[in-house]
Amino acid sequence: MNNSETIKQNIIQSAKQLYAKNLLAACDGNISYKINNDTILITPTNKPKNLLTEKDFAIIDINNNVLSGNPSSERIMHLEIYKKCPKARCVVHAHPPTAIAWTIAFPDLKELPNECISELIIAAGHIPIAPYALPGTSAMASAIEPLLTHRIIILARHGALCWGETVTEASHAMERLEHSAEILMRAHLLGGLTKLSAEQIQELYKIRERIGDKVI
Ligand SMILES: [Zn+2]
Repeated sequence: MNNSETIKQNIIQSAKQLYAKNLLAACDGNISYKINNDTILITPTNKPKNLLTEKDFAIIDINNNVLSGNPSSERIMHLEIYKKCPKARCVVHAHPPTAIAWTIAFPDLKELPNECISELIIAAGHIPIAPYALPGTSAMASAIEPLLTHRIIILARHGALCWGETVTEASHAMERLEHSAEILMRAHLLGGLTKLSAEQIQELYKIRERIGDKVI
């Protein structure tokens, strides 16, 4: 297998896992991978991601020219990430139900309340929420642009975007997001969120600093 075939196989496997974990419904979601500025692999529009095959992939370039196939209509936000984040190689967009529900129940929330869960601070740090913008438009690219120092971004009333240096980093980040959102929801339903102490939070951020930008 050449490099692009291996990447397609990794994306197919990640898409199946995300579908199995209920992070995608029907034809929702899209995954892309930047091989270079002239060759960005992206999943197609109108295809359930659990049925994805190698021949379904479209190819676009960094300027949104379609070179082959039928790329996802949400590709503008993927391209925004590749333009602004030189380290980004893979972008995963999905519709994680509990993460989205937080933005509907608490429309003024600016980030997921991460200071309740030790593992979330270590693995991801802050998880901001981008204000609502119409999916598939340049308004969506503008909404995420100020938040791109973070590799996990919740899109209010829509979904989430995760980017990474590998397919595994970006898709694990999506799983981590929904898992954390679910823990927080259960705590909220059971009696309310409680935060770690200021000292504990500081200790955890020190560990996070040593890890760097990556989501683990
Ligand atoms: Zn979407």
